[in-house]
Formats: sequence, C-alpha cells, structure tokens
Amino acid sequence: MDREYLLEITREFSEKSPTNYLSPPATSPEELRALEERFHENNFFKHNMPQGGDFDALNKDKTEEYIGMRFFLPPILAIGRADDPGFDELKRPEAIGPHFKKPIEWLPEAKRVISLFLPFTERVIESNTKEPDRPSWEWLFTRVDGQQHLLATAALVQQALTEAGYQAVVPQTDDRYLMRTAPQQEEIPIPVWSSNWSERHVAFVTGLGTFGKHTNFISKKGCCGRLISIITDWEADPDVKDYVGRFDYCADCGACYRACPGGALAPEGKNKPACSAFLRKISPQYAPRYGCGKCQSGLPCSTRCFPKRSIGK
Ligand code: SF4
Ligand code: SF4
Repeated sequence: MDREYLLEITREFSEKSPTNYLSPPATSPEELRALEERFHENNFFKHNMPQGGDFDALNKDKTEEYIGMRFFLPPILAIGRADDPGFDELKRPEAIGPHFKKPIEWLPEAKRVISLFLPFTERVIESNTKEPDRPSWEWLFTRVDGQQHLLATAALVQQALTEAGYQAVVPQTDDRYLMRTAPQQEEIPIPVWSSNWSERHVAFVTGLGTFGKHTNFISKKGCCGRLISIITDWEADPDVKDYVGRFDYCADCGACYRACPGGALAPEGKNKPACSAFLRKISPQYAPRYGCGKCQSGLPCSTRCFPKRSIGK
C-alpha cells in the first residue's frame, strides 16, 4: 500500500466507473429498482435528501444532451496526521465547535487522515459561467448525481485499505455523521449549517489546500470540485504543508463577492442565511436537484491556487 497505488486506483475508477457519468433515465421496473439500489449506496440519500424524498424524482430532467456527461477528473490527495493539533483547533467555537469529532473519535486507532479532492470537468465548470444567476444543469447533475461517485471513490479507498489489513472509516458514509442544513432540523443535535466532520476544514489540516474568501476550499487544482476523506490506522508518510494561514491559496481579488447573486459574500465572510435564502428561491424549478456555484465557477481560483508562501524553500 502506498499513495501512488491509491492515486492509480482512483484514477482508473474515475475513468471507468459508471458513477462518474450521468446515467440515462431508468424506464423499466428492473432499471428503476437498480437505480434505487444505487441511490441508497454509501448514504447518498442521507446527504442529498435529508428531509426525505422520492428517488424516482432524480430520474427526471436527464435530457439527451446531458446523458453520459462526465462529472469529475481524477482526484488529488493529501495525507495528514490524525493527531495534528489542527484537529483540536476545529473543536473551538470560532472554528467548527465542540460537536466536531476528531479522527480518534471516529476510529480510536486512527493514525492518518486522507483527504481527496475531485475536480469538476471543464464542461461542468464552463457551463456554470453562462448565466450569472442560474445554475447550469451540468452543475446540478454533478453536485447531486455526481455525489454518488464522490462517495463511491471514498468507498474504493476504504476497501483498498481494509484489504491491505488496515482499518478505515469514511465519516460521510458512517452512521454517526451529522449534517444540519436548515434551522427546522431541530432533531439533528448540532448547530445549523454545520456538520460533525467538515471536509473543508479537515482538508486544510491534512495539507490539501486552504480556504478562499468565498469560504470554499481551494486545492492546488482550484475550488471547482468536491472533497471527501478517509480516516485510517495506516501510517503513511504525511504531506508537508506549503501553507500556514487559512487563506494562503486565495489571491484576495474579490471576484467571488461580485459573482454571488445572493449578495451573501463580503470581505468579512459569508452570510449563510442569505446564501440559503437564495438557494431556496431558485430551487423549486430544479428540484430535487439544487445548487448555485457562482462562488466557484468563472473565478481566478476556479482551477488553480495562488500560494503565498512555500515552507522550507
Ligand atoms: S475569487 Fe479571488 S478573493 Fe474570491 S476566493 Fe477566489 S481568489 Fe480569493
Ligand atoms: S454564496 Fe451562495 S448564493 Fe452566493 S454564489 Fe455561493 S452558493 Fe450562490
């Protein structure tokens, strides 16, 4: 087991797995059953329809021009130490809060955390730059249907680790994972717009990149993509971070503030209720899919980062 092997299997999976391409609508009862089974794999439903819903609804809006489109490019990864003091910092209220579960709270024998960043394809990014205040269908399919591939990629790494004799936990597909996206979800015992395992914060600690002023994550391949992570007792060589500050990969250009159609971004941070209100306003026409992404696509940091310093150079 080494990092090159993980990159190799995830690269191959990215090319060949049907989960990385928009499937045609299911028509026969057998196809519908198979589709339903796939949508229940790896907690997909829990993440995409937290308030319940009919999987069949995701079967619609797949018109000819989108079928077969690819969601993600092969991932990049970073490996961090499970005992990095950065994870303690995330327990502080000004970071995530005490509800954040450190790696050892998911896996008592945890030694490393592997963060993966799956960049969106050029088609997905480009499509979302056409309209200033409406998401493209490519963006929405990638955000929602594509999450199946994100979760499946983590499951692939988890399986590779367990087959090599290591323990591995994927918090996002673990039953202990909590995410609260609306104030009315009072039964979820964490603050609203939060989770007990934040992939962005975790990726910052592992060495995969930093935050941008849009509050999204900026990897070496930019901010257009999705994150997922695996906690393991495999003692791989950890990455050496080439940044110190939270915004070291951000050019501080302000383009994301101007691009936000919901008026939710400003130098002092993100107004989460304003972002949420904008998403609620536009969502009915795309339901059950949702998304916006104007604070990711068409920006200087969409596909690259702007490192401020290099440690040790
Ligand atoms: S658009 Fe500019 S200010 Fe906003 S996150 Fe990207 S680099 Fe930073
Ligand atoms: S902050 Fe919200 S409303 Fe603004 S661009 Fe990003 S997703 Fe859209």
